[in-house]
Amino acid sequence: MEDTKRQLLTDCGLDIQDISGKGKGVVAIRSFSRGEIVFSEHPLLTQNLTRNNTTVLSALAECTAVQREQFYSLYNCHADTLPAELGIFETNVLPCGGNDAHGHVAKLGGVFLFGSRFNSSCKPNVNNRWDGGTREVVFRAVRDIEVGEELCIGYGSLLAKRDERREELWRKFKFECRCEACMLQDQDLADSDTRRECLQILFREHSKRLRGDPMEGIGEVCIHFEPPTTNALDF
Ligand SMILES: [Zn+2]
Repeated sequence: MEDTKRQLLTDCGLDIQDISGKGKGVVAIRSFSRGEIVFSEHPLLTQNLTRNNTTVLSALAECTAVQREQFYSLYNCHADTLPAELGIFETNVLPCGGNDAHGHVAKLGGVFLFGSRFNSSCKPNVNNRWDGGTREVVFRAVRDIEVGEELCIGYGSLLAKRDERREELWRKFKFECRCEACMLQDQDLADSDTRRECLQILFREHSKRLRGDPMEGIGEVCIHFEPPTTNALDF
């Protein structure tokens, strides 16, 4: 990675480091507070759902030489089964739009020089959300993060049970997830699966209302969380 790009990352309080058993990953070199924007980034290139190697090559032809070099520096977990460019894209794609718990997939996906370097966790400490106005992905801390912690996003369906999550991650990204949630055993694992199942039901029940009247919808969801809070927005 170019020094200037790496400096930009350092300025945000982040570094790319070796992570035991995972290759490279993004590590905090300063603390972050829950809700804080870690950074935001425009995609190197985007593709819609009908993409193939030819469309990725066409998009690359529109990129600068530096961007092409950055693209080819990204990891490819599909080297054995897909053409190189499509393999790199599918390995590193992040949604540029809303994915949801019903399996709806964003119509646009993008590859990011930095954002595509986050490793996955089924209990992520960072959320990635596409901002259609600025056409950037915004990465935001979802809990307090200490110096030295690895920053992870969720690649798959976080509301699915462990075995379903692992199947999805293996199919799409060719790794067996060994995050702290997937390594739970016995009753702890059963409890985790049950919590996610409950959240999926809540999501299904309230998503229509959240779209229609977000404040009322959030208030309804809050009554399912214990202990009750006086501030409906304080999760
Ligand atoms: Zn996991």
